[in-house]
Amino acid sequence: MLSLWKDLLNLIYPSAVDCPLCGRRRQGKDICDNCHSIVSGYKQELYCGRCGRFTGKGSVIPSVSSHFCYTCRKQKWPFELVRAAGPYEGILKEAIHRFKYLGRRGLAFNLAGLMVETARTEPILTSVDLVLPVPLSNEKLRLRGFNQAALLAEEVGYMLQIPMNSKLLIKDFETRPQTSLNRTDREQNLRGAFRVTNAEAINGKNIMIIDDVFTTGSTMSSVALVIRSVGARHVFGLTVAAGRYF
Ligand SMILES: [Zn+2]
Ligand SMILES: [Zn+2]
Repeated sequence: MLSLWKDLLNLIYPSAVDCPLCGRRRQGKDICDNCHSIVSGYKQELYCGRCGRFTGKGSVIPSVSSHFCYTCRKQKWPFELVRAAGPYEGILKEAIHRFKYLGRRGLAFNLAGLMVETARTEPILTSVDLVLPVPLSNEKLRLRGFNQAALLAEEVGYMLQIPMNSKLLIKDFETRPQTSLNRTDREQNLRGAFRVTNAEAINGKNIMIIDDVFTTGSTMSSVALVIRSVGARHVFGLTVAAGRYF
C-alpha cells in the first residue's frame, strides 16, 4: 500500500526525489543547493599536498599555497599523492555510509562525480593510464554484496575515460577492522593481504587507486607498495573523503 502511495506521489510530483548526498527531498536531478554549497566550500579548504587530508578546524594555516602535513613531512609514502573530494564528516560521511552499509549503489555515480571534479584540478592526474579499486576479501564481498571501491572506480574510469580493471588486485584474506588500530598496527595488519594477479598489466603504468575514504593512509600505502613492487611507474590515489590532521 505504502509503495502504491509512493508511486502515486511520483506520478504527481515526478521531479521530487531525494538529494543523493543529504537524502532530503527536493526538486531537480542533481544534489540539492545546500549540499552544493557545502561541497563548493570543501574546494576552498586547505589540504596536505601529499596525502590530501584536510587541515583541522582552528589549526595554523601556512601562507604558502602548497604544504605538507606533519605525517607527510616525516613519512615516505609509496604513492605520489592522494586527493579527496572533501573531509570525512557531515554529508560526505553520511552519503558514504548509505552507499556502503545501506546498499545505495546508485550513489557511486554522484560520489564519483565529486571525485572526478577534484581529480580535474590536479594536472598530474592526466598522466594516469589505469584505474584500480582497492579490493575487498571474498569474505567481505560476500557479506556486503559489492565492492564500494570498484563501483566508484568504474564510474571514475568512465568519466575520465581511463581504463579500469577490478581484477588486477585482490585481497587474499580478511584483516581485522582497522578502526581500532593505530598506524603501525594497521600496516602490520594489512601486510601480505594484497596481491597483483597480472604484473604485466601494471608494469610501467601510472596507476590511480580508488577507495572511499583515506584515514591514516595504511590501506592506500599497502596497495601502492604492492603495485610498485610489480613495476608501476607512478601511483596516485583518489577517494571520496579524507580525514583531517591537526
Ligand atoms: Zn542535499
Ligand atoms: Zn599529508
